[in-house]
Amino acid sequence: MSYVEDEYLMLSGIQHYYFCKRQWGLIHIDQQWAENSYTAEGQQLHKKADDPYIKEKRKDMFISRAIHVSSSSLGLSGILDVVEFYKDKNGISFQGKKGKWQPYIVEYKRGQPKKDKRDVIQLVAEVMCLEETLDCQISNSYLFYHSVNKKIKIDITKELRDLVHDFSAKMHFYYQHKKVPDAEFFKNCRLCSLYDICMPRMNKRPKNIDNYIENAIYSEADVCENY
Ligand code: SF4
Repeated sequence: MSYVEDEYLMLSGIQHYYFCKRQWGLIHIDQQWAENSYTAEGQQLHKKADDPYIKEKRKDMFISRAIHVSSSSLGLSGILDVVEFYKDKNGISFQGKKGKWQPYIVEYKRGQPKKDKRDVIQLVAEVMCLEETLDCQISNSYLFYHSVNKKIKIDITKELRDLVHDFSAKMHFYYQHKKVPDAEFFKNCRLCSLYDICMPRMNKRPKNIDNYIENAIYSEADVCENY
């Protein structure tokens, strides 16, 4: 399966999809957005990390910020916070730079490492987009948590790559059908900036209906080449 540029979805949306697929649908299909203290703090942090005019260069290493990336196989595009390039004979060449360089993404996050994999999934999707953009292979990258000043190395495994493929295909399915997933009302709802818009108690559907829709999506997606 390959997507054309007009079909690309926002790369950062995959973390919303992991957290709650309805939240992703409300933001990316219904164009709803509500800011709470968590989202505002996150945007403030990214303003710094995304500044393309901040340059850093050290011996055998340089940093690029705000690199645009995309993947036609995932149908995702976005801008990366920070990419560090280290001199490495197995890396890639750049015009005007001697030697070869291996890229590693550093994705900045507010707060502490999460119990779930939403940040990891976003990082893996970013890596897959960067690999396609630069035509390279990346076996690991990093999550940096601002409030605890901690940088965590993440291995980009096949299982995580498969999950990203699966999520992006489902996101495209929902988007193409303009279907916002139903509410589930689970513990994450308490942290959700879209709680008042979503009204999860009222819009919650019985599990069997959710399963029915999911199964319908799977069986239709099964016909697609990417499954
Ligand atoms: S309130 Fe709950 S179900 Fe609704 S979008 Fe937020 S997390 Fe998802």
